[in-house]
Amino acid sequence: MKFADEFRDREKAKALVCEIEKLANRIEITKTRPLNIMEVCGGHTHSIFRYGLEGMLPPTIELVHGPGCPVCVLPMGRVDDCVAIAERPGVIFTTFGDAMRVPGSKKSLIQAKADGADVRMVYSPMDALALARNNPDREVVFFGLGFETTMPSTALTILQAEADGVTNFSVFCNHITIVPTIKAILDSPDLHLDGFLGPGHVSMVIGTAPYEFIAEFYKRPMVVAGFEPLDVLQSIWMLLKQISDGRAEVENQYTRIVPEHGNDPALAAVGKVYELREFFEWRGLGSIDHSGVKVREAYARFDAERKFIVPNVRIADPKSCQCGEVLKGVLKPWQCKVFGSACTPEMPLGALMVSPEGACAAYYQYGGIKRHSALEPAVDHS
Ligand code: SF4
Repeated sequence: MKFADEFRDREKAKALVCEIEKLANRIEITKTRPLNIMEVCGGHTHSIFRYGLEGMLPPTIELVHGPGCPVCVLPMGRVDDCVAIAERPGVIFTTFGDAMRVPGSKKSLIQAKADGADVRMVYSPMDALALARNNPDREVVFFGLGFETTMPSTALTILQAEADGVTNFSVFCNHITIVPTIKAILDSPDLHLDGFLGPGHVSMVIGTAPYEFIAEFYKRPMVVAGFEPLDVLQSIWMLLKQISDGRAEVENQYTRIVPEHGNDPALAAVGKVYELREFFEWRGLGSIDHSGVKVREAYARFDAERKFIVPNVRIADPKSCQCGEVLKGVLKPWQCKVFGSACTPEMPLGALMVSPEGACAAYYQYGGIKRHSALEPAVDHS
C-alpha cells in the first residue's frame, strides 16, 4: 500500500474485524473475561477514537489506554517548575503548543503568559535555538518533553548550541523512557494485561529489540503498530494470533517505518547528551526507576535545572482528579467523576484532557464510547 487512504479501506477493515472476532472466540480466556490489550502510545489512543476502532471490536476485546502521552504523565510539580523558570526576568520560555495548557498547582504556562511571562510556542528545539541566537541578551529555555521520539532532536540541538558557541540557551529536560515504564506497568498489581500494541514512533528510534524482555520474562506478546486504522486492526489481529497459538513474541507490524535495531545516529546523539535519572515522577504512576533522562555533566551549561533554581516540589493532583486510574486503565475516562463537567478540553483539570493524545481528550472530542465507525474520522465536538 502506498497512500494513507489505502490504510483506511472500509472493506478491508471489516474483514479484519471479522478475523479478529473469530480468533478471539478461539481463545479460552474470552469465555470468562475480555482480553485486555494496552496501547502504550497516545498516538494510537488518538487513532482508536478518531476512527471509532474500539466500537468496531467485539466485546471480547478491551482496549486499555496506556501512559504514552508525555504531556499527560507530566506531574504538576514539573509544570510549576516550568512556570517558575518562565517567570524569571529576562527568560524566554519556549515549548510545544499542547504543553502550554497543562495545569500546574497554581497556573499553566499559558496563564503565566497572560500574567506577563514571555512564553512562546515553537515547533522544534531548533526554533528555540534560533531565538537564542537572535536574542543574545535574553536566556532562552526550551521545555524538553517526550519519549525517545523527541529526545534526539533536543540532544542534537544541544550539540548544535555547543558547536555554535551559544551560551544563552538551555533545555528544561523532562524526557522520559518507554522501557522502564512498560516494566512498571507489567509489575503493577492493578493491571492484568494480555498483550501490548507497541509504540510506533518511539520504536522508530529505539527499534524493537529493547522490548524482548516483555515476551521473554513476562510472557506477554507485543506488536509494534502503525497509526492508520488498518495498522491498528492488523496489529490487534497479530496479537490475538500469538495468544491463540500460545506464543509470546515481539512482532513488528510497522515495518515500513520501524527498523529492528533503531536509528543509530539518533541513539548516538541521545547517548552523548543524556544519562538516565535514578528515578522520575510520573503523574498517576508515581516514581519509576530509570524512567527519565537528564543532561550529562559535560553539557551542564545547557541544562536549565542547573542554570536556574527550580522549586522541584512534589504536588499531588486535585482530589477529584482520577487521571492515575485512567492512565493505568483501571477506569475509563468517562468514569472519572469530573469528566465533561469540571474537566473539559477548554478548562482541563487533569493532563489527560489537554493533549489530543490524552485518553480523556480523545473520548471527549470524538464522542468515544462505543461508536460504530465507517472509518470516517469522527465529528470533532470541541
Ligand atoms: S476527566 Fe480530567 S481529571 Fe478526570 S481523568 Fe480525565 S483528565 Fe483527569
